[in-house]
Amino acid sequence: MTKTNEEAKETWKHRHDNGVHHIGNTKKELLQNLAKEHGTPIFVIDHEKIRQNYKEFKECLPNVQVYFALKANPDPGIVKTLFDMGCSFDVASMPEFMMVYDNIKDMPDSERQDWIWDKIIYANTIKPTETLKALNKCKPLLTFDNIEELRKVKQYAPDAGLVLRLRVPNTGSMVELSSKFGVDPGEAVDLIAEAFTMNLIVEGLSFHVGSQCTNFENYIQALQLSANILKETETRAGQRIKILDIGGGFPVKYNPKVKSFKSLAKKLNTEIKRLFAPDMQILAEPGRFLVANACTLVAKVIGKAVRDGKPCYYIDDGIYHTFSGQIFDHCIYSIKTFKEGEKHISAVFGPTCDAFDTITLSAELPELNINDLVYSENIGAYTHASSTCFNGFPPAKVVHISR
Ligand SMILES: *Cc1c(COP(=O)(O)O)cnc(C)c1O
Repeated sequence: MTKTNEEAKETWKHRHDNGVHHIGNTKKELLQNLAKEHGTPIFVIDHEKIRQNYKEFKECLPNVQVYFALKANPDPGIVKTLFDMGCSFDVASMPEFMMVYDNIKDMPDSERQDWIWDKIIYANTIKPTETLKALNKCKPLLTFDNIEELRKVKQYAPDAGLVLRLRVPNTGSMVELSSKFGVDPGEAVDLIAEAFTMNLIVEGLSFHVGSQCTNFENYIQALQLSANILKETETRAGQRIKILDIGGGFPVKYNPKVKSFKSLAKKLNTEIKRLFAPDMQILAEPGRFLVANACTLVAKVIGKAVRDGKPCYYIDDGIYHTFSGQIFDHCIYSIKTFKEGEKHISAVFGPTCDAFDTITLSAELPELNINDLVYSENIGAYTHASSTCFNGFPPAKVVHISR
């Protein structure tokens, strides 16, 4: 007998084998029940898992303030859950800024101002002038990495606090960011001095080692670079910088080969202690780490064929939708079934009229029928966030559990 959703939620146990998140039988029942209730495709967000991820991050890096990078998954429900945990936020556009702001709009003005200063970093180094004007009233921290941006800030947001983004090695990270962002370390001290000459205040340094960083050496080198620049700024410009933002990149165990976050955290704690004064404020901007393993997609087989001797399944979610992470995030999500049976190498396609909408040509699947359900785990980061409405197919419906 299948359990009701409520019973299944009660008994849902997260099994951890070697740190990899696996689905238990009760979760399978719940996913099937949710698909029955809401239709497909559904993007199931487990808020308890997000709270666990946040707690794990704080426990491993107790002296680091956590700014969730909304770009990984800008669901207002996730923002609310993390807001209630005391999390801070990394935003990169006015709509993202407003999504956080919505949670504090009832605060008295005076408190709100302090809150924003403390809890939001606008971490897109490039900002339209209209955005700078709007942000100046709220005085958040803003990142920058070049002189043109500094001139814009001087004109449109002179009351903001500034954080200089450094270009650091992104070697071996799944998603590279250093080609687009960050000042060369050799030019950093001059740019900081220039900002102070313009009567702007550089409050901090930031970097990003690349997303899904499994080469922990990137963090070590970035910390060392930052420490050198801080020292030089003190001696050459006579200015003391008190914020260090170590960015995102914290890896998720998509497979057992990924080294654990715990071992990275240990290294970070040691290096931070070695290189920086105890009163240095350390920030981090995890995106993927907080949400990737908290979301599961359930889709349905809507068509079936044999092409070139291979079983082919057409499902109601694809590359233009939740599986967009396979393009933008260079991540592969395996397709799993609720039924057992002898497995065959099969192709799985999305629903649109584009051959590019191919999820995989080599899934090992039992024979499936029209209306059978399939699911993909660990699909919470850079997936639903980049869904389109291409060809008239809307993004998967979001379903929240254990909110
Ligand atoms: C994308 C991004 C993040 C989040 O990165 P993750 O690898 O998902 O942790 C943090 N900071 C900035 C500036 C970003 O652009």
